[in-house]
Amino acid sequence: MNAASVIKKMQSGLTPEIPELVYLLDLPEGDELKQLYSAAYQTKLKYVGNKIHLRGIIEFSNICTKNCYYCGIRRGNHNVTRYQIPEEDILSQALEADQLGLGSVVLQSGERSDEEFVSLIERLVRKIKEKSGGRLGITLSTGEQSRETYLRWFKAGAHRFLLRIEASDPELYAKIHPADHSWEKRKNCLTLLSDIGYQTGTGVMLGLPFQTTEHIAKDILFYQDMNMDMIGMGPYIVHEDTPLAKEMPDFDPQRQLLMGLKAIAVTRLLLKDVNIASTTALQALHPDGRKMGLLAGANVIMPNITESRRRAGYLLYKGKPGVNDDSLSGLELLKQEAESAGEEILWNDWGDSPHYFARSKQ
Ligand code: SAH
Ligand code: SF4
Repeated sequence: MNAASVIKKMQSGLTPEIPELVYLLDLPEGDELKQLYSAAYQTKLKYVGNKIHLRGIIEFSNICTKNCYYCGIRRGNHNVTRYQIPEEDILSQALEADQLGLGSVVLQSGERSDEEFVSLIERLVRKIKEKSGGRLGITLSTGEQSRETYLRWFKAGAHRFLLRIEASDPELYAKIHPADHSWEKRKNCLTLLSDIGYQTGTGVMLGLPFQTTEHIAKDILFYQDMNMDMIGMGPYIVHEDTPLAKEMPDFDPQRQLLMGLKAIAVTRLLLKDVNIASTTALQALHPDGRKMGLLAGANVIMPNITESRRRAGYLLYKGKPGVNDDSLSGLELLKQEAESAGEEILWNDWGDSPHYFARSKQ
């Protein structure tokens, strides 16, 4: 086996065997890895171009009813001061994103399903739409919900949803979540979202304890099977106040970063016309991490536009970047980063996933 033949297979639209995907994902630094990144970049140029889509992410609340073993804001972490940004402030942050030309926002939070929360989001989505004159695209990332809730939010004007499956293998999922967190339910949520008409995004954490390269290969095939429109994968980063931390005493940032980049490249080669995020977790591991993600095939960046004073409360993992940045200086940096990678930022655009329109026509 060699990288060139597996790459060629994917370029011609064939689905590789699992060992072939594993081969690519296990490549060490060297010529074959360079071939992988460069082929993925060519595929990106061909299907989605060199335009970077921006989504301003607002982490509006760290209150969470769940207890995922890896996450710093899990219910059981009592070292966290909980916050919820007042409704008017969330609205004004979203409108600021519009002013900055970001084109779309992501509202992300811990998971709640009480009526107060559901109606807050419904109202916010309506108001953001109304006050931005329908200009601002709205993505939600607010966890597992009922069909009825997803439908209410969709009707209010949200058009994209991010819900990582976290691990497409139910056994691995069970190792990183408490027993009352259900893989089946989470997977079913992805189907509900797609059926309602959302552009639907999923993904996993990479480099988790207990995770093998074969798991990651199957994760990528899972995205394909589920006909996903958007992918957001990021390296797992240990948070000390979580139960999973003890499973990874020898955290190796370089290894996590490398897997993050390879997974982006293989996903681009296989899925072609989807949107792929170059996630903040890459940047947490390397000052150029986000740019490296773009060069490996990602086309979406999600600048954090949460009010600076709230950011320290939303530490999903250790060393999350931008905790002290304000939105404007962050954006200026991003622009420089993009240009130095030969990429162009698409301002004032929703930056929808071409895959969504292709699958809607099927
Ligand atoms: N509560 C929502 C959205 C917020 S969490 C949800 O869970 O869907 C957003 C993402 O943060 C999760 O999907 C998870 O993949 C990621 N995350 C949580 N803890 C992390 C960690 N320690 N390292 C890397 N990513 C993490
Ligand atoms: Fe809550 Fe999401 Fe963190 Fe799980 S990953 S504990 S659902 S915020």
